[in-house]
Order: sequence, then C-alpha cells, then structure tokens
Amino acid sequence: MPPHLSTGESVRDKCIEMLAAALRTDNDYKEFGTNCDSMAAEIEDHILLEIKATDMKYKNRVRSRISNLKDPKNPGLRKNVLAGTIALSRIASMSAEEMASDELKQLRNTLTQEAIREHQMAKTGGTTTDLLQCGKCKKKNCTYNQQVQTRSADEPMTTFVLCNECGNRWKFC
Ligand SMILES: [Zn+2]
Repeated sequence: MPPHLSTGESVRDKCIEMLAAALRTDNDYKEFGTNCDSMAAEIEDHILLEIKATDMKYKNRVRSRISNLKDPKNPGLRKNVLAGTIALSRIASMSAEEMASDELKQLRNTLTQEAIREHQMAKTGGTTTDLLQCGKCKKKNCTYNQQVQTRSADEPMTTFVLCNECGNRWKFC
C-alpha cells in the first residue's frame, strides 16, 4: 500500500489492503483505470465513519464487502464499483441482499456500459468546442467525440458531448 494511504493503525491498513486485493479480482480495474488502493482506502473510511470503531461489526462489514466484490457469480457489482456507478459511500453500507440482487445486477450492467463509454471519452479527451451550447447551463464550453455505434454498421455516427462547465452529458446523431 502506498505510504500516503496508510492510516498508521494495523487493523485498518490490513482491511484496506484486503479491500484493494478484492477490487483487483480478475484485473477488471485495468479496463476502468481505477486506482484500487485509494478506492479501498475511501471505502474503509466510509465504513469506519459509520461504525466508529474497528470492532467485530467493522470487521464483518469489511469481510462481507470483500466476499461480494470477489464473488465470481456477481462480477457486475465489482465492475460498477470500479467504474464509479455505485458510490463508495453506498458500497460501504449496502446489505448482502442489495449487493446480490438480480434486479440491481441488470440495472448496473446498463450503467456499466455507459460508464465505460464515458471513461473512454475522458481518456481520449475528445475535441473542445465553443460551437455547441449546453442545454442546462447555456454555456458554450463543450468537449465532443464521435463514435460509430457497434449495433449495426449502417447506423450514423453518434456524437457524445460533455459540458465542461456543469458536467451535463448528451448525445445526438
Ligand atoms: Zn453545462
């Protein structure tokens, strides 16, 4: 674990280390470019903030996150955490039922696709323009990129736009 993330408490450091290892399961984090150490440290922080002690309850909470994040039958949970579609404060407190729910798995899958696309856009940078106006904040400071939808070859290019002022996202063909 990088030294700046160390809490100086061996129980906490160990838990952060184990959470980070769970996040690295199957190397999914590479796809999202996630820093698993700092993500794990943040999850642990939320848990401690809620439970306020490194007691049995704290350890059980950490353990149940780890087993669910590593669950081979539920990779969607891990990917959505890595992609940032599940808030870290939320994964810190979700019940076992919530983490394993089929309904949520479905929802998360669609969210994940969107998150991957947005992450790719952030990585490729896109093109900054003052020709497009944001419908939300009305400012003209946007980044766009064009992508061919993979569903069928004869579909038109889709332009994905991100407002650099307020973070609003939309797309058009
Ligand atoms: Zn805007």
